Amino acid sequence: MDSVIRKRGDDLHWMKLLHFDVSKEWVIHIPIGMPVVKKSAEDLSHYMKLLSNRAGLSIKPPRIQAGDTVPDQRAPRIFLLSEGNSQEQTGFFWHIEQNRIEIFGESDRGLCNGVFDFLTALGFRWPEPDQEILPPVNRLKPQEYLPQETYRYHHAEGHTIRRRLLFARNHPSATWKSVILWAVRNQIDTLVFSLYVRRLLKEKRQPETAHPLVQLGHKIARCYHSGKEVFDLAEKYALAIERGGWDLSLLVPRGYFWFNREIFRMDSGKRNNQNNFCPTSPDTLNLIRRKAEKIFRACPNTLVYHLWPDQGYERAWCSCPTCRAFTLEEQGRIAVNAAADALARINPKGRISFYERSSGRGDIVLRPNLFKVSHLPGEVGAETEGWFSTTRFTKPTVTSRLQRLKPRTKTLRPWP
Ligand SMILES: [Zn+2]
Repeated sequence: MDSVIRKRGDDLHWMKLLHFDVSKEWVIHIPIGMPVVKKSAEDLSHYMKLLSNRAGLSIKPPRIQAGDTVPDQRAPRIFLLSEGNSQEQTGFFWHIEQNRIEIFGESDRGLCNGVFDFLTALGFRWPEPDQEILPPVNRLKPQEYLPQETYRYHHAEGHTIRRRLLFARNHPSATWKSVILWAVRNQIDTLVFSLYVRRLLKEKRQPETAHPLVQLGHKIARCYHSGKEVFDLAEKYALAIERGGWDLSLLVPRGYFWFNREIFRMDSGKRNNQNNFCPTSPDTLNLIRRKAEKIFRACPNTLVYHLWPDQGYERAWCSCPTCRAFTLEEQGRIAVNAAADALARINPKGRISFYERSSGRGDIVLRPNLFKVSHLPGEVGAETEGWFSTTRFTKPTVTSRLQRLKPRTKTLRPWP
C-alpha cells in the first residue's frame, strides 16, 4: 500500500514539474576550463533569451557561471557537465525540476546533444539550415513552456547510434557553415567530407589571418576560408570529421586506362574505365595500397574513412575471367581489404566503412578494421542507421514543404 501511495506521490511530483518557466532568473553553472561546455551554455542561454523575449519579458539572458560555488540553493539553476570521455561516446542525460535542470553528457559531444535534445523537448525544431521553429506558445501563461518529457536518458551504447552527415561532393562551400549549425542542432556527431575535397586537408595549417585573396573575392581563397570555418566549428562543438563516401575508385585513377587496361572493369568482354575497376588484378591491389597509403598519410588526424563503390553503380563490378569466380560482394571485399591493409600499417586505430547490402553474400574474410554500411546516405532506411546527406536540402521533401507552411515558422539569422 505504502509503495502505491509513494508511486502516486511520485507521479504527482513529476506532474507538478512539467512547466519550464523562462521568467525566472536562471543561472547556468558550468565547470571551469571546458570550452565546449561553455559553448553549449551560451547556446542554451541564447535560446532561453529568445523564449523570454517572445513572452514579452525584458529580462537578461541566463547568466553563465563557471566554477564550483553555488551561492543560493533555492535559486533556479541549470547544471551542464561533461564526463569528458572520448567523442565516440555521444550519450547524455537530462532532467528538469521546478528550480533545477541538469544536463550531463558522456563526452563534450554528448553534452551538446543533451542541450539540443532538451530544447527539442521544449518544442524547438531546425528543419533546414537557417530555419528555426520556436515552441508553441502557452496562451494562458506565455512565460511557461511545457516540455514533452521531464527527463531523457540516452546511453551511447544502448539507444543512440553515431549520426553522420555526408556532404555531397558538389555541395557549395558557401553554405557549409549553416549546414554544420543545422547538424549540431539536430544532434549529428560527425561531418563526412569526400576525399575529392582536397583543400579541406590543407586548411588546418592556415594561419589565423584572412587570406589576402578573400578580399578580392577570389574563389579559391573563399574555399580555403570555408575550410578553416569547418575545422573551427568542429572544434567548437566537438564534432568529428571523417573522410570519404563513394570514393573507392579514387584509389584507381581513371587516367591509368591508357597505361594498363587490365586494372579496369571488364564489361561485355571489353575493358572500360567507367565505374569501379577489376579488383582481382594484382596491379589493381598494389595501386590501391599505394594510393590509399598516400591519402591516409595526408590526413593523420582522420580516424574513419568511408570507401564505397561509385554512386549509382555500387553493383557494377568486373566480369573478367578471374573476377567471374567471385560474387559482386566478394569483389568489393577484395578491394576494401587492400585499402584496410594500408590503413592498418599507417594508423592502427583507424577504421574503414564499406558498402554491402544486408542480404549480400561473400566468403572473403574481412579485415578487422572494416565495418559495414548497408544503407547508403539518401536511401530509405539510411537515416535510422545514422546516415544523413546534404542532398536532403537540395531536393525538397514533402515534410519540409509542409513545415514551411506552418504558421508559427519563424526564420532567423544563423546563430551565432
Ligand atoms: Zn576482373
